[in-house]
Amino acid sequence: MSREDFKVHGGNELRCKGWRQEALLRLMENVLAVGEDPDNLIVYAALGRAARDWPSHNAIVHALRNLEEDQTLLVQSGKPIGVLRTHAAAPLVIMANCNMVGQWAKAENFYQWEKDNLICWGGLTAGDWQYIGSQGVIQGTYEIFSRIAERHFNNDLRGRFILTAGLGGMGGAQPLAGAMAGAAILTVEINPERIEKRMQIGFLQKRADTLDEALAMIREAQDRREPISVGLLGNASEIFPEILARGITPDIVTDQTSAHDLVYGYIPAGYTLEEVAELRKTDITKLMDVSRASIVHHVTAMVGFQDKGSVVFDNGNLIRTHAKQGGVERAFEIPVFTEAFLRPLFARAIGPFRWIALSNDPDDIRKIDDFLLRRFADNRIVANWVRLARENVPFEGLPARIAWLGHGERTELALEVNRMVRDGELSGPIAFTRDHLDAGAMTHPNIMTENMRDGSDAIADWPLLNAMLTCSSSADLVAIHSGGGGYSGYMTSAGVTVVADGTAQADDRLNLSLTNDTASGVLRYADAGYEEALDEVKKKGIARIDTGAHA
Ligand code: NAD
Repeated sequence: MSREDFKVHGGNELRCKGWRQEALLRLMENVLAVGEDPDNLIVYAALGRAARDWPSHNAIVHALRNLEEDQTLLVQSGKPIGVLRTHAAAPLVIMANCNMVGQWAKAENFYQWEKDNLICWGGLTAGDWQYIGSQGVIQGTYEIFSRIAERHFNNDLRGRFILTAGLGGMGGAQPLAGAMAGAAILTVEINPERIEKRMQIGFLQKRADTLDEALAMIREAQDRREPISVGLLGNASEIFPEILARGITPDIVTDQTSAHDLVYGYIPAGYTLEEVAELRKTDITKLMDVSRASIVHHVTAMVGFQDKGSVVFDNGNLIRTHAKQGGVERAFEIPVFTEAFLRPLFARAIGPFRWIALSNDPDDIRKIDDFLLRRFADNRIVANWVRLARENVPFEGLPARIAWLGHGERTELALEVNRMVRDGELSGPIAFTRDHLDAGAMTHPNIMTENMRDGSDAIADWPLLNAMLTCSSSADLVAIHSGGGGYSGYMTSAGVTVVADGTAQADDRLNLSLTNDTASGVLRYADAGYEEALDEVKKKGIARIDTGAHA
């Protein structure tokens, strides 16, 4: 298939038996349209797939087109396995993607079972069709840079130097987010095509072929206190130590190579892309060893930058974990972004909420932006972001918007949008969803739940409860995911999607699902003893049962 085959369908013509089913079909098409390698059903993060294989994809399309209101489609790791009668208030689709039993949840088993066509990894928002392109991660990254600016740089990143790596599906957002925050950002990337792609879509301004050239561009922009984004072709495992050795100390250092996956993600130093592709076929064990060894150099340099005074953080790619396994004892002195910068927000269930215009009409999103800017004028995080995003973030695939909203706020927005759909103010229905990296929805002891106050980092009951709760609350799609590839055994998370089609039933579904989704997040953090969550419980009247276990 060619790129052209991955078009997003817009307008009001239905191919399914109702808007809810049509919405889910369009969302699946959308993750492929904006994905990294749609021919292989890959959306992002090296192996995150929209469906197990093409026969599964086609069977899902067929099932969605024929699905009745009172039926539920079951999807197991990207493969549809049946359509069963439920009832009109039940989810249309439920999914379990890549969940392996504890002792067996290892990368090596995953690769074997993937080959045997027993499993596939859905990433977070890939397998359950919630990905909206780079906007989500642009916003998340921008939010992190803003928090760092607040805490360390007097709220001003102009003239500051950010060093990072990886220009893939998620990492490709870094240059834009860094420049939007006002900084000079250098991103090291080993694959020239990735650099070209980010330049073409306007996320990256400049390309450099040598470190000297890149550093000169950064220095000049710093002197002028102007934002710039530079992509440097090279291997971060070699470039980071070289910058450190030259005595240059960036203000902020992170990394978003796909270091979580030692086989299909990270590219070890000294190997070409072709040599890595060959090793993937012939010697996975060797590839894992050389990738880990390369990560050791990469993270040793990051620790070195931290010693020199850079603000260094792990951006959710397990790079510290692999470095530690490779012998970098101090790897975990680098904090993870969630604990370091975002936890107070998550404790109030403020997180990455998003909505998608199923009509494919960008004006729908702009009209919702207008409402948000009026209603949340005093909310700095929301209003600042929406204004910036309008100016700087191009729509990809179906027009969509993300904003960090919390308990009650999400429901309020969704009900207003459902009214706008009902009254014909928008040209079509809107789908609401969120990242799995959300208060009640993820256990990941090296990303989301590292150093939880009560020590509950690895307890995966929370996302399971969240998924069962949104199922019982009539969401349209609910998914339970666990890690695959290098994330195998590291995480469990839950996804939810609800469609505002303008009906009274949608009011009920949105109200129940979105309110209960964030309530479960507040309860999770309240249980762990976070004051912000306990305050939210009180302020919003969430019916928490306190047994005193963590009083
Ligand atoms: P991707 O596979 O699409 O892209 C990774 C990029 O890194 C590729 O372009 C690759 O060429 C490049 N790369 C690999 N090794 C390199 C090296 N040694 N030096 C320089 N470049 C190298 O992955 P993605 O979707 O961009 O995700 C990147 C990572 O971020 C993944 O581990 C993903 O799971 C993680 N992630 C974290 C969050 C979060 O929680 N903040 C969100 C999304 C993704």
